Order: sequence, then structure tokens, then C-alpha cells
Amino acid sequence: MTHIYNFSAGPAVLPKEVLAQAAAEMLDWHGSGMSVMEMSHRGPEFISIYKAAERDLRELLAVPDNYKILFMQGGGLSQNALIPLNLAGHKPQPATIDFIHTGSWSAKSIKEAAKYANVNVAASSATSVPPQSEWKLTPGAAYLHMCTNETIDGVEYDFDSGVPASQEGVLLVADMSSHILSRRIDVSKYGLIFAGAQKNIGPAGVTIVIVREDLLGKALPACPSAFDFKLVADNESMYNTPPTYGIYIAGLVFQWLKQQGGVAEMERRAIAKAKLLYDALDASDFYETRVAKSNRSRMNVPFYLKDESKNEAFLAGAKARGLLQLKGHKSVGGMRASIYNAMPIEGVQALVDYLNEFASSAGAGK
Ligand SMILES: *Cc1c(COP(=O)(O)O)cnc(C)c1O
Repeated sequence: MTHIYNFSAGPAVLPKEVLAQAAAEMLDWHGSGMSVMEMSHRGPEFISIYKAAERDLRELLAVPDNYKILFMQGGGLSQNALIPLNLAGHKPQPATIDFIHTGSWSAKSIKEAAKYANVNVAASSATSVPPQSEWKLTPGAAYLHMCTNETIDGVEYDFDSGVPASQEGVLLVADMSSHILSRRIDVSKYGLIFAGAQKNIGPAGVTIVIVREDLLGKALPACPSAFDFKLVADNESMYNTPPTYGIYIAGLVFQWLKQQGGVAEMERRAIAKAKLLYDALDASDFYETRVAKSNRSRMNVPFYLKDESKNEAFLAGAKARGLLQLKGHKSVGGMRASIYNAMPIEGVQALVDYLNEFASSAGAGK
């Protein structure tokens, strides 16, 4: 079989080593005689898996001691409701939540939050992060929500320019679903960070919430108990049954990340992979990209063929070479290559070779 490279935006590629280990441990985890799927979440075996996963994630992201890490269910999207339900209660009701709108996922967050609070769109663009000087923040807002990597549109915050880290006195909430663990972050700058697992962590079904302790305990009365961050935190994510198998796989991914050199090494690789791909797209007249250069995502690279009548031929040729799931999101069309932590640079090189070859053969009218 041809070597397969999977460019899916999510659920997405996982490290081969992790899948092989999970396969080897499938029927009998560490001599327990059980699959991880069959274990009680309160038994010593699973508790050890859980504690290792929590500890390793805390180490990888240098999460300070006054933050809780929650392993929840419901996906990234459910957090759009759960975060207002948990955090808006710190302000007189109805509270106001500020949003930076940078694409499809911000839009969904804004729509959902409006059920629970007043929302203010402080700045908006789908091809860049508007400069901080233009943000129209609400004095006394409950928090400022931002999606630091827009998976569909390919807009990523340029953290080096100080955004979002320099928002003094503003409580920051960040949706990092599609780039968590791909770059170093200063967790202490945020009130809450969340991420669905199925992009850069593990299988769908686990949602990571990293929340500062002093923000717990003010949930609105309508908040379901199983999603009250304080109850989840007090019960170490076991107020109800957590997604045990997903947590186990996430834990294996965290171990893999540590073996590879941690987040700093992932960031180095992400910069190299993104440069390789964007340089090839920039060098060709055949393709175009639409995001401002300073906000180009290192994880999700949307691009377009200038002649869109060749889209189907492009995708068929890619598939024949084992380059899978390159079709862009249906809402924006075109192509998208997601190049998460588990995508080796060889996969990006194979894509670049194909981009060049397709452009020259199509350009030559073949
Ligand atoms: C995938 C994604 C989500 C939603 O995840 P679900 O698990 O489908 O709810 C939210 N935000 C971002 C940025 C994403 O990439």
C-alpha cells in the first residue's frame, strides 16, 4: 500500500507509536486482564492512568498549581454554553461577554453565548486578527473570548506580538482546540483555556478545560451539575463517568510528546512544516491563500486552486498518492491541509511535491 498521510482537520492523525501501543494493550492492560474500556473509572488501574495523564499535561503546558485541569465530555462546542454558565455568574446579571470574531468557530461561540449573556463583538475579521488597538472592549465584561486558532479559516493569533497576552485586567478565555500543545503558551495569562481532543490530543469525546481556581463555584443556577466546573474539579473529573478510553489515549499522546521533546519541540517542527507548505503555495501562480501572513495558522492551511474547475482532479490525484482528506470545509470551499503535531514533515514534503507536480502538469494543459 502507498504510504498514507492524513490531512484531516479532525478527528485527525494520531502518532503511529501511540496507536501501536494502544493495539498491544487492547485486550490486557499491563497484566490487569482487562481492556482499559472495561475498567471501573474508580478502580486503581484507571486512577493511575488518569493521574499520569493529568500530570503529564500539566508538565507539558507548565500549568500553574492554582489551575485545575478538567477532562470533560461534550466537545469544544458545548463549552460555548458551559463557559457562560460557569463564568458569567461572577458579574451582576445579565453579564456581558466580549468576543473577538476571527472566523467560523468564533461565530458559533458568539451565537451560543447570546443565550446566556449579552454579547459584544469587540472586533471582527475572517482573514486576520484585528489589531488590539481596534478592539472595543466592554468595561466590566465577564470575560473576553477568543479562538486562538480558527480551524476552518486558518487564522491563528500571532502570540509574539503580545496578543493576547497583554490584555491587562481582562479575563481571557481561549478556545485552543486546534493548536493546543503545538506552541508554548503562558497559561497564567488566561482565566480559562479549552480544547476538544480530536485535533491535537486524541480521540473525539474528551474536552480539556484548564481553569483558574478562583473562577470556580459561581455557576448560574441553570448550569447542569455534571458540567459545573467546581463539581467536576472537586471530583477530579469523576463527578460522573468520564470518557475513560479517550483519556487513556490522550495520556499516551502526552507521553509521546514528552519523548519527542515536549511543546518547544512541537513548536519548532510546526514552524518548519508550515514554512515548507506556505513557501510552496506562495511560490506558485497556480494556488492562492487568503489569510494575512502574520496570522497564518501553523496547524490548518486553507488554500485554493485559482482555477477551481480543477478541484476534483486535484483531490483525486492526491488520493491516488495517499494524501488524504485535503478537501476544504464545505462553508469555505477550496482545500485545507491540517498539519497537526502527529503529521511528520515527510507528509508535508509529499504534499509539496504533489502541489508542484499538479501545477506544472495542469499548467502544461495535460
Ligand atoms: C473542532 C473545534 C471545535 C468544536 O469541537 P466539537 O468537539 O465538534 O464540539 C471548537 N472550536 C474549534 C476551534 C475547533 O477546531
